[in-house]
Amino acid sequence: MLRRTFLQAASAPLGLAAIHRLAPPAANAVDTQASDNPASSAAVHTMPRASVVVIGAGAFGGWTALHLREMGHDVTLLDAYGPGNSRATSGDETRQIRCGYGDRLLYARSAQRAMVAWHEREREFGVALLNPTGRLQLAPDWTPSLRATQATLTTLAVPFEAMTHDDLRRRYPQMNPEGMGVGLLEPGALVIRAKQAMLAVSQAFQRKGGTLRMARAQPGTIDGGRLVDVRLDDGSRLAADSFVFACGPWLPKLFPALLAPRIQVPGRDVLYFGLPAGDQRLAFPNFPNYSEERYYGFASIDGRGFKVCPTTGTNTFDPDVDERIISATEVRRARAYLAQRFPSLAGQPVTESRVCQLENTADEHFIIDRHPAMANVMIAGGGSGHGFKHGPVIGRYIAQRAIGEATDRDFDHMVRLAR
Ligand SMILES: Cc1cc2nc3c(=O)[nH]c(=O)nc-3n(C[C@H](O)[C@H](O)[C@H](O)COP(=O)(O)OP(=O)(O)OC[C@H]3O[C@@H](n4cnc5c(N)ncnc54)[C@H](O)[C@@H]3O)c2cc1C
Repeated sequence: MLRRTFLQAASAPLGLAAIHRLAPPAANAVDTQASDNPASSAAVHTMPRASVVVIGAGAFGGWTALHLREMGHDVTLLDAYGPGNSRATSGDETRQIRCGYGDRLLYARSAQRAMVAWHEREREFGVALLNPTGRLQLAPDWTPSLRATQATLTTLAVPFEAMTHDDLRRRYPQMNPEGMGVGLLEPGALVIRAKQAMLAVSQAFQRKGGTLRMARAQPGTIDGGRLVDVRLDDGSRLAADSFVFACGPWLPKLFPALLAPRIQVPGRDVLYFGLPAGDQRLAFPNFPNYSEERYYGFASIDGRGFKVCPTTGTNTFDPDVDERIISATEVRRARAYLAQRFPSLAGQPVTESRVCQLENTADEHFIIDRHPAMANVMIAGGGSGHGFKHGPVIGRYIAQRAIGEATDRDFDHMVRLAR
């Protein structure tokens, strides 16, 4: 039998120390970090107690603000529509966290650390945020990417199971595995209640002394290569030592010359289909997150319905003004897919739907770097369909960059602006 089981690797929790290792405070690296961006080396002094304005309370900005506050800084978090709002990419109901990342070891490691952090934060916040679902990647055969994922998971001692077509048929009788020769199961994957998580992060931030304001901001006065303040829609201004613009799909609007060529914003329909009455075979915890070339999704959680997301759909989306109404074409396509792969859902109605948008870079790497013309401004975004899970780890990383602390130089290089 080809199935290999790596469950023994599950046993070693990493703890907080491991989370913090993403950005080790290596004092001697400070002078040379992020050298691809000329502005990077200009602001490398760690500020003892800085005033920082974070613009955007999504996964990137919300966690950054919380970490900055926990580091003792004076932090104001601004959001035009509020934490977890339904326009934000982080304001959807659910997001998954898994460590399978092809050969992208730095993201896989970050996801592994983030998983530990999510569990710790769930306990700290006292809110149920996590569903231990597992994740099943399906494919006709082993691809180079799936083999790279196996190698990376092995390196990181993340448990996984490699399954044959017969394994799939036996293990998941509620799914028709036709055309799928293999499956890669990551049993430790989770589904996060995304909107609830963003609300919990912003509440923790305020409890710890941070200031949250509902306001839309844009860069204000620039003086000597530094941003002095941001201008709010009511005409007022807010000054600070440093600024983090973590505005997700809004970043190309805020910095059109710099970011419109680098970040595309396509819309995505997210559909939930009802389960047949009394049939829980495709409800959590009876079926894992699934993924194949054209579709991915989750089992029904909280009675919401079976989640189906197409992996395509490229129309540019305006997160401020575009209507969040799903297309009849996507419903028809998703239904045809379900009829084939999950026959018990054929003919079931759409019970809920969302329209979300991605903020994609060409290489799907994040963009986290200093603005080339404003040395005290960090840009943080380009989540590219995989940013949410990293929140608790990437927030600390962005916070450290914002105040000039040394960070992991390989990661700095990977997420640099100039690429
Ligand atoms: C359909 C879909 C499925 C996904 N699935 C996953 C997944 O399973 N796992 C995963 O890890 N990732 C996933 N992602 C990606 C992930 O959701 C994003 O990478 C992440 O949420 C982006 O967070 P953000 O903070 O950059 O942006 P956002 O969450 O959009 O936050 C930006 C915030 O900035 C605010 N804002 C914007 N402009 C201004 C302004 N001028 N002034 C003040 N405030 C402003 C907005 O109101 C918003 O709250 C998915 C994305 C999509 C679209």
